[in-house]
Amino acid sequence: MKAIFLDRDGVINRHPGDFKYVTSWKKFKFLKGVKSALRGLFQEGYLLFVISNQAGVSKGVYSQKTLDEITAKMLCQLQKANALFQAVYYCVHKKEENCGCRKPKPGLIKKAIKEAKEFGIKINPKESYFVGDTQRDIEAGNSAGLKTILVFSGKEKPGGQRDWKIKPDFYAKDILAAAKIILKEK
Ligand SMILES: [Mg+2]
Ligand SMILES: [Zn+2]
Repeated sequence: MKAIFLDRDGVINRHPGDFKYVTSWKKFKFLKGVKSALRGLFQEGYLLFVISNQAGVSKGVYSQKTLDEITAKMLCQLQKANALFQAVYYCVHKKEENCGCRKPKPGLIKKAIKEAKEFGIKINPKESYFVGDTQRDIEAGNSAGLKTILVFSGKEKPGGQRDWKIKPDFYAKDILAAAKIILKEK
């Protein structure tokens, strides 16, 4: 099966700013076009996953409970828009903890693929994508063997990617434009 792995902040919801976090549901703002983009991808048969670093939990900026609440409400809103997610994966560790799941490492993507397999769902990375707004998203997606799309709706702006060792396969203004690329390419 084919899947779309999405970063959260800056892709689904408004980028909270560098070194800042979404600390409550009130501060979680869906970006424009997200719901229709995700509905379109879901209806085309793509499995949807969120793969997100949320180190604010281990830094004590917000609790795991708050993060879970944000996730539940986000998924509920997306479900109402007919965009159903398969699963949401977070790395809540600090960089210094050197875990295996913090992007740019592909640990969480691999975990998602492995857990899907245990449910009898075989994801083919070659026909799957990672959509993210930062360099580490692109590196994580690339390491997991996915096609990658950098969106400019979050941290990164056009033109700042010249010295990246790993370049995205595609660039898009936002997730809606990314979905158009994906659906055209299939
Ligand atoms: Mg992001
Ligand atoms: Zn981690």
